[in-house]
Amino acid sequence: MCSPENPRLRVVIAGAGIAGLTAAIALRKHPLIDVQVYEQAPELLEIGASIALGPNGLRTLERLGLQNAISNEVCYRGPSNLPMIYRHWKTGEVIGNDKHDNVNERLHRTARYHRGHLHGALLDNVPKEMIHLGKKAVGVDVFGDGVTLRFEDGTTAQADILIGADGLKSAVRQFFVPDFKLLWSGWTAYRTCFDASLTKSIPNLPEDSIHWWGTTTSFFSSKLGKNSYTVVGSIFVDPDDPSAQLKDAEWDEKASVQAFRDLFTDWNPVVKALAEVTPSVRLFPNFSCAGTLDSWIFGNRVVLIGDAAHAHGGAHATGGSLAIDDAYALSLALNSVFPVTATQKPSTEQISKAFKVYERTRKPHAEKLLKLVHSNNAARIAKLRAGHVETDDELRVRASKGSNTNWLHEHDVVKTFEKTLGAYKETGDDFQEAKARL
Ligand SMILES: Cc1cc2nc3c(=O)[nH]c(=O)nc-3n(C[C@H](O)[C@H](O)[C@H](O)COP(=O)(O)OP(=O)(O)OC[C@H]3O[C@@H](n4cnc5c(N)ncnc54)[C@H](O)[C@@H]3O)c2cc1C
Repeated sequence: MCSPENPRLRVVIAGAGIAGLTAAIALRKHPLIDVQVYEQAPELLEIGASIALGPNGLRTLERLGLQNAISNEVCYRGPSNLPMIYRHWKTGEVIGNDKHDNVNERLHRTARYHRGHLHGALLDNVPKEMIHLGKKAVGVDVFGDGVTLRFEDGTTAQADILIGADGLKSAVRQFFVPDFKLLWSGWTAYRTCFDASLTKSIPNLPEDSIHWWGTTTSFFSSKLGKNSYTVVGSIFVDPDDPSAQLKDAEWDEKASVQAFRDLFTDWNPVVKALAEVTPSVRLFPNFSCAGTLDSWIFGNRVVLIGDAAHAHGGAHATGGSLAIDDAYALSLALNSVFPVTATQKPSTEQISKAFKVYERTRKPHAEKLLKLVHSNNAARIAKLRAGHVETDDELRVRASKGSNTNWLHEHDVVKTFEKTLGAYKETGDDFQEAKARL
C-alpha cells in the first residue's frame, strides 16, 4: 500500500546461492518489496556434489510453498527413515545411527540432493530477470538512507537494504571486516555425483545413506534424487603439518580418482566397489571461520545471511538448512516492521529493529554450532599431535553415540523468531534482559 510518493522497498542480494535464492523467494512474496539478485558467476552451474537438507530446512521450504524443492522427485530419502547410519569401515556392521526426534511427515525427513537439483528447484521460483549474472561484488557504500553495491565491472546497484549472501568467502563481509580469516580444519573431501546405474552391479549395496567410519578417514555413500548417486571420501590431517596430505588442495580442484580409490583399498568390499565405479572426483578442503563475527549488521543497511555470516565448513551437513532458515527469519523480521499494508517504506530505525530481531533469532544458534565445530576440530588435532591412534573400540563407542545434532536439524526457526520478537517488544532495543529467557 505504499503510495506513488513512497515507492517500494528496494532490496539487493549479493550471491545467488542457497541463501540468496531463498531470501529472494521469501521477499518477493511481499508486494511492496523489489528484489534484485547479483551473482558473480557468468552462468549458474552448481558444483557436482551432494547436499543434505534436514527437517528444519525442509519445513521452511514447505512454508515458502516450495513443494518442488522438497518432493521425492528432486531428492532422496532412504527406506529406514533414519537420517544417518554409521557402518564400520572394514566389517560393514552398523555401529550407530542418528534418529529424528519429532518428525512425522515423510517430506520433512532428511533429504539428499545433487546440489544442482536443489539449486535448480529454487531457481524455478525466481524470475530470470531478477538475477544479474557476471556481477562480482567488490565494495559497498552505505549512506544515511540507502546503500550502493559496487561490482568488479565498474557498475553499481542502489538499494534501501543489501543482503550479503555471497557465501564462505563473502566479499560483503570482508569489506566490513577486512581482518576476518578462514581456517582450514585439516579435513579435505573427495566429492562427486554420478548416475546411480553405475552402482547396479554392486552386491549388498545399502539402500540407505551410509557414513562408513574409519579413524582418520571416512566414506559417505548415498542415492540422491533424479537417479543420481554420491560418494564422499574425507581425510583428516594436522593442518599445521607442512608435509600433510592434500595441504595445498584448491576448492573444486580435479583430483586423481586413483588416489581416491587407493584410500579405500583395504575397506569393506562395498566401499571398495563404490570407489571402483566412481568415474571422477574433485577436492573440497574444509574451511571455517577462525572466530565469530561481532555483528552480522553493518550501518543499519547491510546484513549477512548463510555462510557469509557463519562459515562453518559444512560440518554436520547443516549449512544448506541454516542458510534457508536465515533467509526466512530475515524475511519474517522485515515483514514485522513493513507489513503489506504499509503506507511508507520502513525508516532506518525500523530496518535496524528488523535486523536486530533477525540477528538475535539466528546468531546464538549459529554460534552454538561454530563453538562445536571449533572444539571438535581442536580435540581431533590435539589427539593427532599427541600421536593417539583411535582404537577399534573407541571408534565403535564414538559411532554408537551418533551425532546428537537434532538441536540443529530440528530447530524451529519460526518459534525462535516469535520469542525473539516478543522479547524485543517487551524490552525495546535492549535485549539484555530478555536474552536470558530465550
Ligand atoms: C565440502 C562441503 C560439503 C557440504 N555439505 C553440506 C551438506 O551435506 N548439507 C548442507 O546443508 N550443507 C553442506 N555444506 C554447506 C553448504 O554448502 C553451505 O553452507 C550452503 O551452500 C550455504 O549457502 P550460501 O548461499 O550461504 O552460500 P553458497 O551456496 O556458497 O552461495 C554463495 C553464492 O554467492 C556467490 N558469490 C560469491 N562471492 C560473490 C561476490 N563477490 N559477488 C557476487 N556473488 C558472489 C557464489 O558464486 C554463490 O553462488 C557443505 C559445505 C562444504 C564446504
